[in-house]
Amino acid sequence: MEPIKKTMRTGMFDNFRRYDGNTARFGWIFSLGLLLIDVFSRLHRYNQKIDISIVLVQILLGVLYFAATQRKHKLLIGQTEIPEQYKIAKTLEILFITSFISTLNFSEYLYFITLLPVTLESISRGFNNAKRYLFLGLFSQISTQFIMTLWHNHTYNEANSFIIQLLVIVCEYVIIWAFVYLCGTIYNEYMRSEEENKVLIDKLGDKYVQLEQAKKEIQENYEKMRKTYEKLEETNEKLTSSIAEFYTLQQISQAITSIFNVNELLKFVNDVILGVMGAYHSTIALCYGQHNKLKVQVSSISDKKELAIVSDYLNSDVLYPCIREGHSMIDNDVDPGYYPFTKGRNIKSLICVPFLAKGNPLGIVLIEHSIRNAFNNENVRLLEIICQQVSIAIENARLYQQMHDLATMDGLTGAYNRLYFQDKLEEEFKKAKTAGYDLSLIIFDIDHFKKFNDTYGHLFGDKVLRNISVFISKNLRKEDVFARYGGEEFVILMPHTTLQQAKEKADDLRKGVAELLITDQIVTASVNISLGVSSFPVTAGSPNELMKTADDALYEAKKRGRNIVCVAKARV
Ligand code: GH3
Ligand code: MG
Ligand code: MG
Repeated sequence: MEPIKKTMRTGMFDNFRRYDGNTARFGWIFSLGLLLIDVFSRLHRYNQKIDISIVLVQILLGVLYFAATQRKHKLLIGQTEIPEQYKIAKTLEILFITSFISTLNFSEYLYFITLLPVTLESISRGFNNAKRYLFLGLFSQISTQFIMTLWHNHTYNEANSFIIQLLVIVCEYVIIWAFVYLCGTIYNEYMRSEEENKVLIDKLGDKYVQLEQAKKEIQENYEKMRKTYEKLEETNEKLTSSIAEFYTLQQISQAITSIFNVNELLKFVNDVILGVMGAYHSTIALCYGQHNKLKVQVSSISDKKELAIVSDYLNSDVLYPCIREGHSMIDNDVDPGYYPFTKGRNIKSLICVPFLAKGNPLGIVLIEHSIRNAFNNENVRLLEIICQQVSIAIENARLYQQMHDLATMDGLTGAYNRLYFQDKLEEEFKKAKTAGYDLSLIIFDIDHFKKFNDTYGHLFGDKVLRNISVFISKNLRKEDVFARYGGEEFVILMPHTTLQQAKEKADDLRKGVAELLITDQIVTASVNISLGVSSFPVTAGSPNELMKTADDALYEAKKRGRNIVCVAKARV
């Protein structure tokens, strides 16, 4: 607040200086006017000759008065306080103006001119300061008047009583004193209100400081609130995405426990990923074979040409780190030259995350977008969590498949085993009976296999069993069930097949096996098979009967000399 007070003080002093200058100028005009009036009045009233000496004295006093006021005013320039020399100049100013007035005709009536400088003092610096100038003026007035009286009496020979003049001077000064005192009270009142203003300004200053402080605190609090709000917004955003993430993962884990078919599960997962990531395309490919070749399992790509490009180039080296090393990949500025599977497709961003089971690759999920910078690390993180969950499901499904295979398949030949076949026979028989269609059964046995083993060795014999299995499997329909019944005996269950159709098929297979050349590094050999055929409802009425009659027919074939097909006898 200090600057405000200082400005006020400077302002007050500037005013004082301005008043001082104005008063001086008025004083000069008055003095000059009075001098002229005095000269003319002497000429007019008294018709006297002008006393040059008096005029000279008047001019001299007027000049001195002018010089004193000038000096006094100059002393104030550039000051903020009244300097000591000012008082001397002021004293001289009063002395010269009062002396000048006293030299005038009817000077008694002009003493009030003294009021000019003294009133200014009283108004601007108080009655107490003006008092000494009043005394000075009175003293100067009286003494000059005394001198002038003597001079006039001598010069003009007028009988002015000095005592009367003295009384007039004193009376006038009483009035002047009263007036100056009045001005002094105005000054006091002004100073008092000024003091009050100062106090008010001080108070205002304090309030201003308090307000500034409060403003600063409010600003700080606002800043804190803004930061808290930002944090809340951030937390809220995180929470919202966490909820979405939680919901997605919950959906997937629910799917894992309720969808047992891996393909169905992957289709569901693919749809969820597509929705959550807001991606353009999502593709899941699984690893197959010894070299873990990727094969597209499910994809949102509907365009056949595009899907073919993805399927063909998915095994390019670019996804090597993802499949072999199990690293996730993200690229928000895809170069089609670098990713062969994006060639000719409008792909600008992609993420590839592997499915891993105990560090082994099971497959990948590939999400793609047609715009640049479509994905961030959060997307990768969520996708990795999804893949972790789905990997377990894929692994479980594969383990289940392995177990199922172990339980149903024959380890040597890859055909179904006897147990599975018997279940299937019961099941298929029921269906055929209910639906009323033919169900045929072929049983065959390799001819003289004991001897074959003895000749070429057991291992070569195993190879024969495997090759015959592959050949038979290839030549059957999807709905036919082919199983190893025991040793070198095999069975084929054929739904919707008549006895005649089965017989023809059996004969084809017989010929095919006979033509099959099984080679080893050293030898090449072939075997023959004998086959027995039976069919529901023509030759058998139950599963057991179907099996037995077919076996009887096989026995018949062996009896008849082997490498032939025998059909069971019709039921009675
Ligand atoms: P037949 O023409 O009457 O059928 O004469 P066969 O010698 O084939 O006689 P049989 O069917 O009784 O012989 C079964 C032989 O099949 C005995 C065994 O040496 C052979 N064999 C059974 N299981 C296997 C197998 O898993 N591997 C090999 N290499 N040989 C097997
Ligand atoms: Mg045999
Ligand atoms: Mg046998």
